[in-house]
Amino acid sequence: MLAHLVLDMRGAMEADRCAVFARRPADARSLGVLASSDSGKLPAGPTSFAAAGTWHERCLLDGQALWLEAIAEDRDGAQVQSLGMRAAVLVPFRAKGEPEAVLGCFYAAPRHFTELELVSLRYVASLTAFALERLHFEEVEAQRRRRSEGLERTMVALRDARELHDVLAITARGLSHDFGRPCAAYHLTDGAFRPVAASDLARIRLPIPLDAVDLEGLRVRPVLRRDEDDLLAVSSDGQLRALFVLESSRELLSEDDIKYLLSIGAYVALALTSALAFDQLRRYAAEGAALTGAARTILGFTELEPLSEALCRLGLRLAFAEVACVYARRGEELRPIGFAAIDDHQRVPERLPPDDAEARALLATTYGRQPYIATRLPLPGGAGGGEQHGILLVARPHGYAFERSETRLIESLVTLAALAIRNVDLYEQSVEANQALGESNAFKDDLMAMFAHDFKGPLQVISGYSELLLETEREEVQQYLRTIVEQTKRLTKLSEDALALAATQSAGFSLSRQEQDVTAFLHETAGPLDHGSGRLVFVAPESAVIFAFDRGRLRHVVENVVGNALKYSTGQVEVRVVPDARKIRIDVADHGIGIPADERERVFARFGRGTNARSRGISGSGVGLYIAKKIVEVHGGRLTVESVENEGSTFSIVLPRGHELV
Ligand code: ADP
Repeated sequence: MLAHLVLDMRGAMEADRCAVFARRPADARSLGVLASSDSGKLPAGPTSFAAAGTWHERCLLDGQALWLEAIAEDRDGAQVQSLGMRAAVLVPFRAKGEPEAVLGCFYAAPRHFTELELVSLRYVASLTAFALERLHFEEVEAQRRRRSEGLERTMVALRDARELHDVLAITARGLSHDFGRPCAAYHLTDGAFRPVAASDLARIRLPIPLDAVDLEGLRVRPVLRRDEDDLLAVSSDGQLRALFVLESSRELLSEDDIKYLLSIGAYVALALTSALAFDQLRRYAAEGAALTGAARTILGFTELEPLSEALCRLGLRLAFAEVACVYARRGEELRPIGFAAIDDHQRVPERLPPDDAEARALLATTYGRQPYIATRLPLPGGAGGGEQHGILLVARPHGYAFERSETRLIESLVTLAALAIRNVDLYEQSVEANQALGESNAFKDDLMAMFAHDFKGPLQVISGYSELLLETEREEVQQYLRTIVEQTKRLTKLSEDALALAATQSAGFSLSRQEQDVTAFLHETAGPLDHGSGRLVFVAPESAVIFAFDRGRLRHVVENVVGNALKYSTGQVEVRVVPDARKIRIDVADHGIGIPADERERVFARFGRGTNARSRGISGSGVGLYIAKKIVEVHGGRLTVESVENEGSTFSIVLPRGHELV
């Protein structure tokens, strides 16, 4: 507008130069040329000059038009004449919000100014002031509109920002756009403002130490000038969190700019609060996941030292530590039993005093101001089988102080470790208990075997002599002796059973198979059992049935099953041999008391007896079938029964073939 004005005015006033001068905002003592139009007749004037003592200043100070029709050859005049001017007219004007200005027309020759010209000039000056005022007003309005748009844009962008980094980056970009200057965002962590985002990445920004910023000043007023930068500080939850730096500008911020920054700051504070809350949630979730992983790792250990090593490695990972160590009591001091470090240069104290306070004092002097966490660890092996305390030490000698979340993770790790250590302890105890149990079992088996074996010898002697004595004539003595013999036989049978039982329990229960004819074997072993009464009937194929089995052991089975059939029945007992390609079945069928339906499983159990056998007063120990079944199973076969109470039973010994080919 001013450029047009001076051009038009030079024409209208037939001047050689028309120009507008104003006080410079940065320096009120000098005047600058805002616009100028020149006929070329005058030599080029300066673009700015000291105001003091010039006509322009006088014109401004008086607020009156000043005209000089012929420039005097005095002190003032000399300066003007040197610029080639012979006549000039200056009119002051002032627009609201603008610096004071002078409109001037200059002539190379002396000139007379009419009253009309002067009035017109004054009129033009006041119109110019008016126009400038309007322009200024419009500019202020446009600026306001831009600011409110900027504010709205930032608000919308921040509304969707979930993460701290996004909040800072969005704001930095927005501010840079609004102020036309680079802007960087810093986050206050670990004792310094650390750069997080910037509108341009061309410049490398370093962390700003806390003492490089006037923190007190920022608390009072969050917008602050520092060198050529303008700082905006943002707090949330009463704590300083972020700093935005609008970089490098010689111009000071206007009051409007500051107000704008303050309102942006208020929105950012809100967004930061929610981002921090979100961040915390996420961090808790991450901590939870890390701890679950840790639990999975350490709960499986069965020995303390590998567990301690694992704990140290976890300590390093969870707290970003440089070194970790588990101390346990060894003799009169605490010594490392687990250690992990990020490199070979890391050291921890070789020993710590067992007293908690003394150990802490030693660590405090070792680490001084270097960050470390020392936590008590419950360990097994205390006095009287109780607990004693070890220490988990986690340190970051060259790093920043541990954050609260890291300390919390280490505390949770120690809680987990307590569980894991308890596990190790229980495991050790159970291994010991198992060993003791194994030993006592073996001892019991030995005892049983010895007992049963040593039983048999004296019993045989007793029964032998008793049988000799039976030959006496005296009826009464004979009666007693018969009882002795009967009971002794029972004892002998019991001891045989006990021996066989002990054999099945021992770990090395194995077979020594031999190929032989099953039918012949049955005749040989079962035949004598009916004492020639003819109750036993054999049904078998004509040809030999060859099969490989442990003779001694199978004899026990046959004697038991056939013996039972004779004992629990009074009639005939049929022993059948039924071979086929894959197996041999030996059925022993009787027509005796049978077994109640719900007791058919029970009779194969150790000491299992049928209720009907008991109620009829038929003596028995209940171990015969138990042993027989085991022996058959070791042969790879099965021992089963089909029975109807009061009608009879059929026991089947089924043995798989195939071994005879070996
Ligand atoms: P025991 O005959 O010494 O009692 P066993 O283990 O040989 O011990 O037999 C277990 C039980 O099975 C017997 O007490 C009896 O009740 C039942 N039992 C075995 N064989 C027969 C059978 N042939 N008829 C009826 N009951 C039988």
